[in-house]
Amino acid sequence: MKKGIDILRDVIYERLAEKRREDMAKDKPVQIKKTDNGDEKWCPKGKHYVKADVDHFYNDARSKTGLSSWCRKCQNKAAKSTSSKTTAASNTSEKKFVQEDMVLTLDFSKLEILYEDILAEAADQLRTPAMQVMWLASQALYKERA
Ligand SMILES: [Zn+2]
Repeated sequence: MKKGIDILRDVIYERLAEKRREDMAKDKPVQIKKTDNGDEKWCPKGKHYVKADVDHFYNDARSKTGLSSWCRKCQNKAAKSTSSKTTAASNTSEKKFVQEDMVLTLDFSKLEILYEDILAEAADQLRTPAMQVMWLASQALYKERA
């Protein structure tokens, strides 16, 4: 029989794989969309499609399309908000958004015994429960690469 910690490792592994799939789906909208009015390019900053030309995007020789990743409007807005003190609040919320995106939530409501195991293991290793889960996650990832 599998030990609780082994099951947890599998659960974390599953959850990480799931999150990776979610992130990949989220990060990859179609770059260029064909419309009746010509091509439109995805702007990840504004999360919208904008006409794919130099009127709406900056030139960027490094990119495949030759256009900047963000549209002009969003890039201008971002430049303005970093140079102005009055928009400090919007910068903060932007930072928070990025951090939230990096949060992995584990639901133990159906795995109460596992949760107990984690608490016990954590206490044993002088770690916080969160640290213990992080450690297990790193172990799960290591196992995956090996
Ligand atoms: Zn935009």
